[in-house]
Amino acid sequence: MSRGSPGRAVLPTTIVVVVATLAATIAAAASRRYPAGAVVYRVPVAERVVALTFDDGPRPPFTDAILDVLRDQGIVATFFLVGENVERYPTLARRIVREGHAIGNHGWAHRALDGLSTGAARNEIAHGARAIRQVTGVQPRILRPPFGALDARISGRNGVAAEHDQTLVMWSVETRDWATRSPRAVAVGTLRQVEPGAVILLHDGGGNREHVVTATRWMVGHLARQGYRFVTVPQLLNLPDPRGRR
Ligand SMILES: [Zn+2]
Repeated sequence: MSRGSPGRAVLPTTIVVVVATLAATIAAAASRRYPAGAVVYRVPVAERVVALTFDDGPRPPFTDAILDVLRDQGIVATFFLVGENVERYPTLARRIVREGHAIGNHGWAHRALDGLSTGAARNEIAHGARAIRQVTGVQPRILRPPFGALDARISGRNGVAAEHDQTLVMWSVETRDWATRSPRAVAVGTLRQVEPGAVILLHDGGGNREHVVTATRWMVGHLARQGYRFVTVPQLLNLPDPRGRR
């Protein structure tokens, strides 16, 4: 590469990249099917796709083991991270991003937002998002409220989540992996409820999640054989609506 006057060559390229990024951002915002503050449980889609989601991590050794399963199967998932765990296990948080998975905000300290003052709920969301951004470089655009607890102050166009540009992502398949230690119970219960566009709730943190690792390995194999493709939540949110709505 020539050492002569790099400034002239670099500057126009930088401007082109900035303009292109801005245009893409504006286009994405204009066509966002689920804007900030919207609450999503499942996404109507024509294809057989599902989104695996893991809450409460990052938490060794379970997050590592789940990442190994996903890598071996060549699939992607979404991790809703707790801010204080991100600060405690930054290397693991960065591994999630490096391996192509999506991350979302699960609050700073896993507090139920509907039990907090509006100011405290705002802090919980902002602090969680900031920890994720500082450690991984990713600005989360999706928020799963801890315990799925929501109220009118949090959701909607004028709610606290929208202030932070976050879409609220709940789930349509409840595995109850926190209520059992049986991988079979988790896998069977999940497979019974799955349908195209499903959002599957699992946990990689908050306790011993060995059974979740095993259940994930089984489920992924079963679902792949049933013709399911695995997408991240942001990918799922951007799939075309078969009903033709935006
Ligand atoms: Zn949680």
